Amino acid sequence: MRTFDVVIVGAGIIGLSTAYQLGRRGRCSVLVLEKGRAVGAGSTGASSAVCRFRYSRDDMVALALDGISTYRDWQAFTELKAPRASFNHDGVLWLTGEDREFAPREAERMSKLGIAAEVLYDDDLAERFPSFSRRVRMPDLETGEDHGDEAGGVHLFEPDGGWIDPVASAEDLLEAARNRGVTVEFGQQVTEIQREGGRVTGVKTASGEDISCPVVVNAAGPWCTQLSEAAGVSVSWDLVPTRIQVLYLDRGDSLPGHIPVTADVAGGIYFRTQNNGQQLVVGSVREEDEREAVADPDHFQTIHDDEFAYTQLHLLSHRLPGLPQHGRVRGYCGLYTVNRDDVHPVLGETELGGFWVANGFSGHGFKIAPAIGAMMADAIDGPLTGGADSFSTAVPLEAFGVGREPLILESRSVLA
Ligand SMILES: Cc1cc2nc3c(=O)[nH]c(=O)nc-3n(C[C@H](O)[C@H](O)[C@H](O)COP(=O)(O)OP(=O)(O)OC[C@H]3O[C@@H](n4cnc5c(N)ncnc54)[C@H](O)[C@@H]3O)c2cc1C
Repeated sequence: MRTFDVVIVGAGIIGLSTAYQLGRRGRCSVLVLEKGRAVGAGSTGASSAVCRFRYSRDDMVALALDGISTYRDWQAFTELKAPRASFNHDGVLWLTGEDREFAPREAERMSKLGIAAEVLYDDDLAERFPSFSRRVRMPDLETGEDHGDEAGGVHLFEPDGGWIDPVASAEDLLEAARNRGVTVEFGQQVTEIQREGGRVTGVKTASGEDISCPVVVNAAGPWCTQLSEAAGVSVSWDLVPTRIQVLYLDRGDSLPGHIPVTADVAGGIYFRTQNNGQQLVVGSVREEDEREAVADPDHFQTIHDDEFAYTQLHLLSHRLPGLPQHGRVRGYCGLYTVNRDDVHPVLGETELGGFWVANGFSGHGFKIAPAIGAMMADAIDGPLTGGADSFSTAVPLEAFGVGREPLILESRSVLA
């Protein structure tokens, strides 16, 4: 029988980040088992991978800072000569409509937390992002009322934010982890968690293999509750696989200038470019678009809804009035695991000794994954030895511990 010190279930961005951080420590043998045929089979493959810093909680801002700093220094972190992924330094723009207090207040708060943040007024917007309308109110989706062209908003800009290709990043982590001695196997579904005397003793795979290990990490993304149930562990959090829709379309040549990653809170949409700025990726930041629970993560509607596309494009064309009126709009749906209790992750060892969870990341998991990997590896195996680690985090795991009370939040949307 094969024996490992740690078995990680799931080769998404969380499982791979944890595996690589354990590999960097070099003290334990690590096996990652992934039921898909390649990385990106779950949430990670569908992710918009927006890397923004602003969250309402300071500990989430710190996690975002630590995660994004790692993506910004990706080659040094992965130790790869030619990583597939590199950070797109597009900046992140927050348009908050009629709320003129948000940007100055949050810019000051972010500066205190060590994050570059600027307040932009309409003239700055026009100069830096000439494709953008300055309207502070979006049309009413129910009544159709246009709300006019009133300007005068005050906007927040995070110059160090951006995005990074999610699948390429995961592929880099796969290679980096293997270089550090981690074993990663695809087409390997974990079907049972074995236990004895209140502790994990191993896992069984769909091929019938028993693998002995004292530690199992549930990094199974939208399948996390299934896996915890297989372990006989009742995690008290409501972690719901949720269908999330995204559109993409050609940018055309009628939108001049730079288009940053944008959280258009007034309109309820976010967007960014991809393919060297030639395409736009568009999604929703409305809470009601994060409510479609999926009973079986292996079977759900992966094609977007026409109604969703109509709404997003309608709002987008009010923010980017030069948006091409013709051309093909495509879309897809992925799943993320919404923690319905407080939309934040749930981390740590459960009541079953040696069975760890890193689940419930809602729409935030990609940007914070490098920090989560460091946090999980520290908790399972202790910190990296031999000097300070610039790819770590000081945020304590207990802040998001599986045994905590739900967090009190001002918003439960993806922008929480
Ligand atoms: C449309 C969309 C947009 C998003 N946008 C952003 C964003 O802009 N910014 C951001 O920070 N985050 C974003 N997210 C969220 C982020 O992508 C996720 O939080 C993150 O990818 C979660 O990673 P994970 O490793 O936990 O899960 P996953 O990527 O789902 O990985 C879990 C893996 O476990 C495997 N698995 C499951 N069960 C088993 C089993 N029994 N045996 C073996 N393998 C198993 C699955 O096949 C899967 O590959 C978005 C997500 C989606 C879907």
